[in-house]
Amino acid sequence: MADNLCIGVDVGGTNLRFGVFRGAECLRCVRREVDLRQRCAAASDAEAAREIVLTALGEGIHELLPDFPEVARVGLAFPGFVDHDGVLLKSPNIPQLENFALQRELGERLGLRVVAENDANAAAYGEFWEERQVHPELQDLLYVGLGTGVGGGWVHHCRPWRGAHGAAMEIGHLIVVPGGRRCGCGNQGCLEQYASARGVQASYVEATGTAPEPAVIAQMARDGHAEARAAFALAGQCLGQALAHVLKVADIGLLRVGGGLSAAWDCFAEDFLARLDQDLIPALRGSVEVKRGNNDDLAGMRGAALLANDDPRRP
Ligand SMILES: [Zn+2]
Repeated sequence: MADNLCIGVDVGGTNLRFGVFRGAECLRCVRREVDLRQRCAAASDAEAAREIVLTALGEGIHELLPDFPEVARVGLAFPGFVDHDGVLLKSPNIPQLENFALQRELGERLGLRVVAENDANAAAYGEFWEERQVHPELQDLLYVGLGTGVGGGWVHHCRPWRGAHGAAMEIGHLIVVPGGRRCGCGNQGCLEQYASARGVQASYVEATGTAPEPAVIAQMARDGHAEARAAFALAGQCLGQALAHVLKVADIGLLRVGGGLSAAWDCFAEDFLARLDQDLIPALRGSVEVKRGNNDDLAGMRGAALLANDDPRRP
């Protein structure tokens, strides 16, 4: 299919990012500091929360349209469970939004074709596309994004696998420490509480009582600081444990690990790969290719834009 000019939008924890893409090439990217979680929490009701989201997204897109009037499609990477019709069923981070026909409502408001997708699925698709440039025969890829939280996406037969409720590959909520740290999802001991930027910070706080930024903890780990190294070692071990489970279920040949915390890959890779190998079925050991993904933060936007460009099932 020809490459239309598309806008990819990545809805993050504290900001929204909007990129204009031709195919996978980002022509321009703008970032808006908008904390949707906080603003929706302060909304008077669900309708007001939806309006906050639609307005914030519309403003960012309208900022780009004057310079790129030929844009006809928008891909939206949103944190939460998104079904096949682009309905946001639930967003654990923004509980005010439920059964929100995000794709349709934003499309009507903008007069553009909108494709909404779970943010980690969109990032997985962005990584998949990049990998396909080198391996055109590739069909499947497992992506895990280590950021503020932990997201996961599986591109299966070249499409994101959404599952029955748009909640497939919620890898961050695999329980790795029974009875462990309380998670935002309501359970305890989820991977996200150990292998995300916040998780590494929490491990360090537990050991020392102080809370430096994750990038500082990473540098301390490189400098040999024992508690910092232990925080990353725990993150790596938990990640290896969780992904071994996923690979036993889905038997995927290629895994990419991305997200902001993957910039500290050197701090946790050894523990991660050792634990992954140890926990895999012995016959599978060494047969899963593990790659460090992009930490350029474009994967979500790029994947969303590519999905908008070429998703054949959506009008
Ligand atoms: Zn959880």
